[in-house]
Amino acid sequence: MKDIRRTPISTILSNHEKMVGKEVDVKGWVRTRRGNKNVQFVALNDGSSIKNLQIVFDLSRFSEDQLKGITTGASIHVQGELVASQGKGQNVEVQAAGLEIYGSADPEKYPLQKKGHSLEFLREIAHLRPRTNTFGAVLRIRHALAYAVHKFFNDKGFYYFHTPLITASDCEGAGAMFQVTTLDINQPPMTEDGKIDFSKDFFGKQASLTVSGQLEGELGATALGQIYTFGPTFRAENSNTPRHLSEFWMIEPEMAFYEIEDNMDLAEEFIKFCISYALEHCADDIDFLAEHFDKDLKDRLNFVIHNDFVRLSYTEGVKILEECGRKFEFPVYWGVDLASEHERYLVEEHFKKPVILTDYPKEIKAFYMKLNEDGKTVRAMDVLFPKIGEIIGGSQREESLDKLQQRVDELGLSGMDWYIDTRRFGTVPHSGFGLGFERLVLFVTGMQNIRDVIPFPRYPNNCEY
Ligand code: ATP
Ligand code: MN
Repeated sequence: MKDIRRTPISTILSNHEKMVGKEVDVKGWVRTRRGNKNVQFVALNDGSSIKNLQIVFDLSRFSEDQLKGITTGASIHVQGELVASQGKGQNVEVQAAGLEIYGSADPEKYPLQKKGHSLEFLREIAHLRPRTNTFGAVLRIRHALAYAVHKFFNDKGFYYFHTPLITASDCEGAGAMFQVTTLDINQPPMTEDGKIDFSKDFFGKQASLTVSGQLEGELGATALGQIYTFGPTFRAENSNTPRHLSEFWMIEPEMAFYEIEDNMDLAEEFIKFCISYALEHCADDIDFLAEHFDKDLKDRLNFVIHNDFVRLSYTEGVKILEECGRKFEFPVYWGVDLASEHERYLVEEHFKKPVILTDYPKEIKAFYMKLNEDGKTVRAMDVLFPKIGEIIGGSQREESLDKLQQRVDELGLSGMDWYIDTRRFGTVPHSGFGLGFERLVLFVTGMQNIRDVIPFPRYPNNCEY
């Protein structure tokens, strides 16, 4: 069979009126096959759309034997005329004239035979789950959101700034770190006082995987004006929750000359842009997920786009929680690091809108956040979302050399001179935030578990594939 370049099924389906009567060339994986002894119908999917293309095999043209390799999961190449479909459920179909079977899929062994596998089961076969409708939809939406992130910042004149994944600084305080070493861990070199001698390690010092690109991001922002990072981050915390991964992607914009209000405006505009982009470009996939998992999904997405986020201080938030009469699993009082149940109460039950909580007690936030006049709170801002809790954490940064140095000394942080240089030389007010990319994908897809919005999730006791 002549191998002309294939046409994506999405292109055929969205241009079907123009393309009827034309010869098409399609390649993909068989989802289902049914029919009788005169005609066989195959639903073909090539990953370009949630929708399948119907292929019709007339048994006057093909023998049973030629078609026997066409089972669920097999990969095939079909040429034929695109014709208007007689049947219900599709506008067009391909009247097959040529068939090539690339690879069969033994029906006894292929795990994705029937519809309606549980998400838990699919997690165990994460190497094959991208072939399901659900993961196809999630992964296309994930792609669209990643593209939207770059588009948003590029169009605003931000520079994509690459921060290192391997780092020797452990001062971000965002979570436990994975160590990176080439030492023989069974027999590491020791110093005289009985400690592991990291001076013999690959980098000549102890190194780990980054938990955040922010500190380096600030170096970029105080030179290029406004930057963003978008890369993987690693946290070795033992958080077995539906909102934590050990390896996740984070977007961290950092802006010189931004005060906290500018930071909040940007965060709100950014999230709304990404959600709108997905609604516009992934309508079929969002419809599919809404129908199968979450009937309110589209309403929730539209609601977020069309409403202002509520902005209030941590102190006001805690007051609401203390007075609401709800029995929380974790107690609420001024000074506590809010748990997801508290955040979700404010968002889902009290305000029924996304909330930006600001001015947290300095003790529960990172050392680099700008101290308020009260001496007790810092200019932090967490964006809290329905179903998710914290989706963004950010702040205005402390630009005063004296105050930053004091905080670094109080906390006994060392090896920070390179960072403090930004305040020593040409310091400026500046702000930034971090958005957990998977939490955004979780929100937009309406999935319940963060392990289902990244192709190959890493979490405690799981590093398969
Ligand atoms: P949480 O309190 O939910 O554990 P955090 O306060 O530790 O989050 P930050 O250090 O502020 O998180 O990181 C910025 C953003 O990164 C968070 O707002 C969240 O969207 C995302 N994030 C943090 N930890 C994880 C994780 N383990 N898996 C996925 N996303 C994460
Ligand atoms: Mn946070």
